[in-house]
Amino acid sequence: MKKPFALSLIAAALMVAGSVQAKEVTDADISNDAKTTGDVVHFGLGQQGQRYSTLDKINTKTVKNLVPVWSFSFGGEKQRGQESQPLVFDGKMYVTASYSRIFALDAKTGKKLWKYEHRLPEGIMPCCDVINRGAALYDNLVIFATLDAQLVALNKDTGKVVWKEKIDDYAAGYSASAAPLIVKGMVVTGVSGGEFGVEGRLEARDAKTGKLIWIRPTVEGHMGYKWVNGEKTDNGISGTLNATWTGDLWKTGGAATWNGATYDPETNLIFVGTGNPSPWNSHLRPGDNLFSSATVAINPDTGKIVWHYQTTPHDGWDFDGVNEFVSFDYKDPKTGKIIKAGGKADRNGFFFVIDRTNGKLINAFPFVKDITWAKGIDLNTGRPIYNDDNRPGNPAAGEDGKKGKTVFAAPSFLGGKNQMQMAYNPKTGLFYVPANEWGMDIWNEPVSYKRGAAYLGAGFTIKALHDDYIGALRAVDPVAGKIVWENKNFAPLWGGVLTTAGNLSFYGTPEGYLKALDAKTGKEVWSFQTGSGVVAPPITWEEGGEQYVAVVSGWGGAVPLWGGDVARRVNFLEQGGSVWVFKLHNGK
Ligand code: CA
Ligand code: CA
Repeated sequence: MKKPFALSLIAAALMVAGSVQAKEVTDADISNDAKTTGDVVHFGLGQQGQRYSTLDKINTKTVKNLVPVWSFSFGGEKQRGQESQPLVFDGKMYVTASYSRIFALDAKTGKKLWKYEHRLPEGIMPCCDVINRGAALYDNLVIFATLDAQLVALNKDTGKVVWKEKIDDYAAGYSASAAPLIVKGMVVTGVSGGEFGVEGRLEARDAKTGKLIWIRPTVEGHMGYKWVNGEKTDNGISGTLNATWTGDLWKTGGAATWNGATYDPETNLIFVGTGNPSPWNSHLRPGDNLFSSATVAINPDTGKIVWHYQTTPHDGWDFDGVNEFVSFDYKDPKTGKIIKAGGKADRNGFFFVIDRTNGKLINAFPFVKDITWAKGIDLNTGRPIYNDDNRPGNPAAGEDGKKGKTVFAAPSFLGGKNQMQMAYNPKTGLFYVPANEWGMDIWNEPVSYKRGAAYLGAGFTIKALHDDYIGALRAVDPVAGKIVWENKNFAPLWGGVLTTAGNLSFYGTPEGYLKALDAKTGKEVWSFQTGSGVVAPPITWEEGGEQYVAVVSGWGGAVPLWGGDVARRVNFLEQGGSVWVFKLHNGK
């Protein structure tokens, strides 16, 4: 049959205006991401970062039929750590890789559509491997941060650069690797570099143009800025100058926001975790050192801090508080009332439940079994009950002034949990936390700030606590304040979690397995060997009535670089760089 003339005209017009055919990512797509199962347009499967999917075609009964559909290699000579969460929209997958690379792939077939390799200068200083944690989608753009502290926005359909903005100077120790957060048309990013004495902060830009809207420093004493009609204006100091920092130390105070942020539309707050105060030697900086090792809540409309909760005031162990703050409904066991809360599994080994409207502590309890630096968290004051003799000694108190007393502290500075994102399942009411059991010998040394040089004033060796395991995927009940079940792992866990309405929790191991556990019992119901260590969070979506699961594989990250005895224990693990996609065999 001959094609009607009018229709072929429309088809021709569509082909000419190629951009008309490609869908754009709207604010509604971003806001609804957790509910829409046909795509994954945001890091965390939604701005709140619950990493929960309502899909249940893959469930405890059917998961045994889960088989690979395709795998794609990032190629090149460069491998190292792959910590990226893919995004899926309009039939395409967007996935970042080590060395600031990004790929667009056909989500059904794995066919490469385009690739962008950011040109990195000599002398970049990422502390913890050349990783990237993922991109953001907005309008016709895909946006990601680079190891030389830039933000790059590409046309998501062609891979051509639309805008590029410098966040800060890589030569001063700045870098960026977290997935950006999209809020109300803004792209919100932090900085890495807490080991180099950078100025931690969160920045909001117009996602379409890259132009700055506000900057909010996370070290008390720094000025915030807002751009009004293109003019840079003061937007209030962060806290009070010298309130919690002595002398000029706030100028190089760290509190790097290196693991990204979440957003809760119900309270209209951005939650960002902040890293250690710089330097590590805490005797040089008496005081709480706000807003380091904390969760900071920021109003996206004003760029101002609404509340903060410091998980490790006056940190002396590199307990970065960057762990994701995940919004959830907390049912008060006494009153039965629902409280708008947030959960955070902190690097310091405690799980915090916080009222997300005001930052008040509701509950805090250990999610690792060995914690030496504090006896607990005082639920009235919200502050740790320190074991003072577990703080590394002051070098200035020693005879030669060169090295303070060494202490054995747990968790190690790589944390009860690190960058790997936990998941919350509203059906089970449980958080799924990739935890690690390890400790460290740590001591302090004198140090002075030198631009672009490591600024620690500390030495350390990380050690395992048990012969048979370091990692443990743990189901944590935020109301009862306890670990419900655990699934142990020989190597330290370093990848995030996905949980689903199919009563499954998916996560990867450095040994290379992507695993699915029964979300209620922790029993392993499926696993697949991906060929290299998994240190990234899985995702799921549906297309054509079939549910898909994807994960990036490629061992690396901080453990091989900083892990001491543990790095030697796992040096048999091989590097890689690929993305894997799975679905049920014959759709059943
Ligand atoms: Ca979605
Ligand atoms: Ca740190």
